[in-house]
Formats: sequence, structure tokens, C-alpha cells
Amino acid sequence: MGALTLSKVTKSFGKTEVIKGVDLHVEEGEFCVFVGPSGCGKSTLLRMIAGLEDVTSGTVTLDARDITDEAPAKREIAMVFQTYALYPHLTVRDNMSLALKQAGESKAAIDKATARAASMLALDPYLDRRPAELSGGQRQRVAIGRAIVRTPKLFLFDEPLSNLDAALRVATRIEIARLHRELGATMIYVTHDQVEAMTLADKIVVLRAGVVEQTGSPMELYNNPANTFVAGFIGSPQ
Ligand code: ADP
Ligand code: MG
Repeated sequence: MGALTLSKVTKSFGKTEVIKGVDLHVEEGEFCVFVGPSGCGKSTLLRMIAGLEDVTSGTVTLDARDITDEAPAKREIAMVFQTYALYPHLTVRDNMSLALKQAGESKAAIDKATARAASMLALDPYLDRRPAELSGGQRQRVAIGRAIVRTPKLFLFDEPLSNLDAALRVATRIEIARLHRELGATMIYVTHDQVEAMTLADKIVVLRAGVVEQTGSPMELYNNPANTFVAGFIGSPQ
């Protein structure tokens, strides 16, 4: 579950085409990383996959189901943003369980899913706190917890660590890698950090100006970059 295919996907804002015919396949359980310079269309691609932005043309398929025009809530996709967007007046527990409540889950199911997510993210001691009483790293873990309570088929992360300091970035990156192993879910992760890309990815997609420049494993891209642009991003000597 969680195999994603984009076919000839484009996106225009007014007359400006910012995504120019992207073909992409992400395997079930794969950790796929999008890299590329600011403004190349990484967030727009993620937002189209999540259904937060309309696709101008092309199709998005999840497990052989065409979701191109499906409502975001139906997609079984969870997105974690760079800014945590937690509700300040709600406790950690309520921030994490809100989506389950809105989906009409039973109290027992909500408690079980929230306890499981809190335990996976070492948030048990903080469940009754409010976001203002947490550190930046703890807040980002709550944002991740909010995504994993729903056990979606596909996780989308948009530069989730860029607001954290260097030490916390490493710790949280290791935690995301562990979650990926434990959940076995498909993940797409956007970053401009080369170390994050090389250490987390099964597959890296290098984007430039709305076009996929190259797709491959970290080692494939490192050893055989298609051009100097890819080499520059992956850090290989060419
Ligand atoms: P990235 O995440 O790679 O930095 P984005 O996907 O945010 O890039 O943006 C890709 C391009 O689309 C940029 O040129 C950006 O200015 C433009 N863009 C993004 N969102 C909008 C919008 N809502 N309206 C107009 N242009 C937009
Ligand atoms: Mg972005």
C-alpha cells in the first residue's frame, strides 16, 4: 500500500507553468526525497499530491486509484509542514487526536492510536502540555505525531527540520528514519539538506524549474550524475 504514480503532471499559476510535465513513480514503502533549489516546485508537487492544490493537467494515482480530483481528506495521505501549525489552545494529546475526532473515531480507538504515536515519538510525558510549554523539537514531534495517528498510506514531509537547530535536526532525522522502518509506510520528503537526502533516501528526485533532472538511488546519483547541476546538488566531484 502507498505506491504513488504521477503521470505528465503540470501546474500553472495564471500563465506561468511552474511544474512542467512530471512523471514519477514511488514504490510502496519507499523513502523518496525531493531536492532542488528554492522555487523549483517541490512544495507545489507535494501540495498537488496531498490535494491541497489542483493539478492543471496529468494524473496522480495512489495504489492504482486515480486520486487526481479526490478531496484531500479521502486520500489517506498525511502531510507534515515546515511550520508546525499546532493549535496553541489544545494540549499535545488533543492536537494529535483532532483529526481522528473529526473523522468520528470512537474514544477507545482515538486513545489507542494517540498512545501508540506518543510512545513512538517519546511524547508520553508531554501529552497534557500545550505547545507553548514545549521545545521546538518537541513541537515538531507533535506535528509528526499528528500525521502518524491516522496510519495513512503515504506521508509527505515538506522541509520538516529546517526550523530546528543542527543537533535537533540530526536527532529528529534519525527518528524519522526509525518511524519509516517501523511503519513501513511510503514517505516523500522534501529537503535542501544534502546530508538528509543522502542518509534518508532510497530514491532521490532532483528537480530544477519544474522538471525532473534525474531520479535514482543516492549512490547512483553520486556515481553517475546526469549533469553538473545534479552533481552540484548531490556533492559528487564531477
Ligand atoms: P519550492 O518548494 O521548491 O521552493 P514552490 O513549489 O513553493 O517551490 O514554488 C514553485 C514556483 O511556483 C515558484 O516560482 C513560486 O513562486 C510559484 N508559486 C507557488 N505557489 C504559488 C501561488 N499560490 N501562486 C503563484 N505562484 C506560486
Ligand atoms: Mg517549498
